[in-house]
Amino acid sequence: KSSVHRICSGQVIVDLSTTIKELVENSLDAQATSIAEVRLKNHGLELIEVIDNGIGIPEQNYEFLALKHHTSKLSCFEDLTVIESFGFRGEALSSLSALSKLTVITSTEEQAPSGRKLEYDANGRLAKTIPTARERGTTVSVQRLFESLPVRQKEFKRNVKREFAKALTLLQAYGIISEGVKITCTNQTGRSERTTILATSGNKSIRENFVNIFGAKQLPQVMAIDFQLNIESERSMMVDATESDDNSRIETVIQVVGYISKPIHGCGRNTTDRQYYYINGRPCTLPKAFFNEVYKTYNSNQLPFVIADVRLDKSRYDVNVSPDKRTIYIHDEKKVVDAMKNQLIQVFEPFRS
Ligand code: ADP
Ligand code: MG
Repeated sequence: KSSVHRICSGQVIVDLSTTIKELVENSLDAQATSIAEVRLKNHGLELIEVIDNGIGIPEQNYEFLALKHHTSKLSCFEDLTVIESFGFRGEALSSLSALSKLTVITSTEEQAPSGRKLEYDANGRLAKTIPTARERGTTVSVQRLFESLPVRQKEFKRNVKREFAKALTLLQAYGIISEGVKITCTNQTGRSERTTILATSGNKSIRENFVNIFGAKQLPQVMAIDFQLNIESERSMMVDATESDDNSRIETVIQVVGYISKPIHGCGRNTTDRQYYYINGRPCTLPKAFFNEVYKTYNSNQLPFVIADVRLDKSRYDVNVSPDKRTIYIHDEKKVVDAMKNQLIQVFEPFRS
């Protein structure tokens, strides 16, 4: 085994959540409408498996799938600036091959109902190809994550409950936002029955997903938000200002869609850690200032329950600044924060005493 490979692998796969995140995003990139199961054994310690009904993997890619920097999602370097898909670095499967026993079962439209089972070695090389039955789609199995890094594995064992809870929050985040994608997560511990931990119906609305995940009883506690922010910036602020007649100013249109708890009725203690943020439908972390200001509109120390999908042009924010691609920097952030605050003050107006 190459130790260099293993050290580099620390980048995208650091725990259970990042593993699940990478696999789920691969399924979404493959246009799956059903992630039939995120199947865990012993909370992921023994097995993490993601089963989708996406487009599958064409035969010519079998060999390269788990090699470092192999990706089918970029055709040229310029693509880096117009990324549509979640993944594009070709690091997840290569890291997982070094950190676990990686197996892929896949079938394309043309191959179904027969497919291939692919086994990869620790260097990401295709070790075995076995014909097998499979409907269109892909199953990625990660057995004994971190087995090659005993200290990390020990840590995973010690924190497994917390890791599991974190992974569940992440899956909820995908479950809420993924319109028309059915997501299920199950766990099996020891010899006991497999239990379903999360299941969304795959119906085409965030509202439906909300009910599936949090229960219909929670609906009256929140209100739908859907508003638009128009931000005018100095052109010089923009790195890649596009051509326009007006040379000095540029307008950014930001749409914010989701749910927020009512400032008076909805701020129960159990909602404080429920904040789900997205940029263009991708779960993310936004800079703290962005929301701290917004919370102040509540005149409360408690944080609201929030589901907010912030939709804006790709040229107006930076994504891949952190290894896990989750922290987002929005250009001209202060103006966005102010505009957001003003909007929410209006939304909450009926609740002011
Ligand atoms: P990236 O997503 O950055 O391209 P990954 O290591 O996550 O890199 O995946 C490598 C390649 O494997 C992808 O580019 C894609 O071609 C293929 N792949 C992985 N998972 C799936 C899946 N569930 N369905 C179809 N293709 C997949
Ligand atoms: Mg990927």
